[in-house]
Amino acid sequence: MPGLARKRRFEQLAACHPTNKVREILLAAEGLKVARTLVPEEEVADFVRAMAALGLYAALHHRKYVCQPDAGKGGWISRHGLELELEAAPAGLLMVYLADNPTTALRAMEAEHAHADVDFGTLLGIPACCSAFYAASIAVAEQEQNDFILPVLDNTGPRWPYRHGANIAAQYFDSGLLSFYPCSFHCAAAAQVTLDSHRVLARYDRVWADELLAAQHDAILYTEYEGIYRLRGVRYQRDTLHYDPARVESTLDGVLGHLVRQGDRLRLFGPHHALVMRGRRTVCEIQSRYAGLLVFD
Ligand SMILES: [Zn+2]
Repeated sequence: MPGLARKRRFEQLAACHPTNKVREILLAAEGLKVARTLVPEEEVADFVRAMAALGLYAALHHRKYVCQPDAGKGGWISRHGLELELEAAPAGLLMVYLADNPTTALRAMEAEHAHADVDFGTLLGIPACCSAFYAASIAVAEQEQNDFILPVLDNTGPRWPYRHGANIAAQYFDSGLLSFYPCSFHCAAAAQVTLDSHRVLARYDRVWADELLAAQHDAILYTEYEGIYRLRGVRYQRDTLHYDPARVESTLDGVLGHLVRQGDRLRLFGPHHALVMRGRRTVCEIQSRYAGLLVFD
């Protein structure tokens, strides 16, 4: 496809969909993976028609899901929710599988619902190490909101900074290049997927692809229930993360965000333990197994 046509395709998609979805659609169109996406049932006919116009094939699962967003994550949904018959009354979301050929789209749909995790992960372009970790961590993640950030953090080696290519936490801010949980924030295979995705997406819009790659470097203060905080333009030096309080973004407007914006650096003691500081003053201490400090190179 000529460069100009690619650019036009990107602009059309970006006008209708959030970044995370645009990225997945383009990667599926390039044959890199199957994209699985949730679509409100009343929009699904138009969505499938629009995808067909891009040369994408869709497989649909014959059930619908009524999902409750996670607490404190700006509308992010980690749980599958209630599974219902298509004829059931409440409006729901349909699982749509997109691929550049009909066989692969159908195989992905069947693999997920047969709980064939390894096959499904392969079709989604997920490295085997990350896929195996995901399957092994389902029970732990389900104890909270079915988010895998904390299990990934607890499976990550002790030293910061982590590999920016493995920063899946950019997803909460509708950004970044990764669409699956890595087995560790040091995972080289996940980081390679990020690089490959960047290379492909840059052929559609280089500025956009570079922005997504830049977002991989942002530090994230993750909490399971008290919001997620993205610290942009950070500088890391010997267990201290310097940040600009004016460039803190959050999924929740609450007490923790207020405190983080009073500080300008984090003194890191462990993956779940830090002090928020400004000058000589300690603003607050964060120490909880429900909090994670994610610092990337
Ligand atoms: Zn991995």
